[in-house]
Amino acid sequence: MSQRKRQKISPLITQKSDLFEEQPDDIVVCILCKLSSSASCPSDFINILVTCKRLNRLALHPQVLSKAGPKTFAIRAKNWSDSAHRFLKQCVNAGNTEASYTLGMIQFYCLQNRASGASLMAKAAIKSHAPALYSLAVMQFNGSGGSKNNKDLRAGVSLCARAAVLGHIDALRELGHCLQDGYGVAQNTADGRRLLIQANARELASSLRSMLTWQPQHQNEHQWQQLPYASCVTIGSMGCPLLSDFGCNVPAREVHPANRFLREWFESGIGVMGPNLRLCSHSGCGRPETRPHEFRRCSVCGKVNYCSRGCQAIDWKLRHKVECVPMELWHGVDGDDNEIGGMVEIEEG
Ligand SMILES: [Zn+2]
Ligand SMILES: [Zn+2]
Repeated sequence: MSQRKRQKISPLITQKSDLFEEQPDDIVVCILCKLSSSASCPSDFINILVTCKRLNRLALHPQVLSKAGPKTFAIRAKNWSDSAHRFLKQCVNAGNTEASYTLGMIQFYCLQNRASGASLMAKAAIKSHAPALYSLAVMQFNGSGGSKNNKDLRAGVSLCARAAVLGHIDALRELGHCLQDGYGVAQNTADGRRLLIQANARELASSLRSMLTWQPQHQNEHQWQQLPYASCVTIGSMGCPLLSDFGCNVPAREVHPANRFLREWFESGIGVMGPNLRLCSHSGCGRPETRPHEFRRCSVCGKVNYCSRGCQAIDWKLRHKVECVPMELWHGVDGDDNEIGGMVEIEEG
């Protein structure tokens, strides 16, 4: 700041701005790294970009972009723009796996740029990004972006196994169902059940963790729309689907920003689904079909469609259980928490 300008403002402000301006670039970059990795919503970071030229330049430093966390990329579908696209690309180029995954999902499902989307997700998966591994598994199970003949169940199982080892709950559940049903892997009912129990136990742990930060006033769906991702984004009826049998009412897990983006994109009409294509019926998923009858449907009612057994299992507990068949028909069948997939088999549409 020039001496002439400095004289126009109070000595207090001058002193403060000097303190900041005197910091060398590497210290400011270090502070910005902390900020981008802990930002609770995209605006936390965007506000830095528009503060001044120096902060804009330093905030776009590859080191800062590589550290940006998932909530920095929690862009709402209605706010999607060329500049948001450019920003994600810059983060991908800086080596940010979360950006690779988010942009990969958006390109594959929303912008229908399948090759580029899949390769971005693969880029994240190679660096052990669990949601990317799981998403690639779902694509392999369904032959997404290709025909029915492009399904590769074995590849799906092995991607799921890698994501499950990294602690991805949906992948663990999917793997459990695959083992139980002998889907893409030799059938082993005992191992399958063991994995399903593990998935439920992890679900319990994660629900208890989010219960500690749960704020009941966030139950209203309208408020949910306005909340940043950080404020414990919960879905559907706001109860943990897998704990309802134990009489607990704790919030469901956070939805990944990429899934929320997909759902908003198609439900708001920004993205138009092709004829006879359907969204996965689990509200926390948002994946659309890439060809008619790609997803399996509930064989009891035929009214809901799921991209995966994991989505079916969660949605069953969360919502579909009471919609599918009259209560007297499922009374006595649903005695075991791990029998969800078996009770409502999913089959090709
Ligand atoms: Zn799904
Ligand atoms: Zn049904």
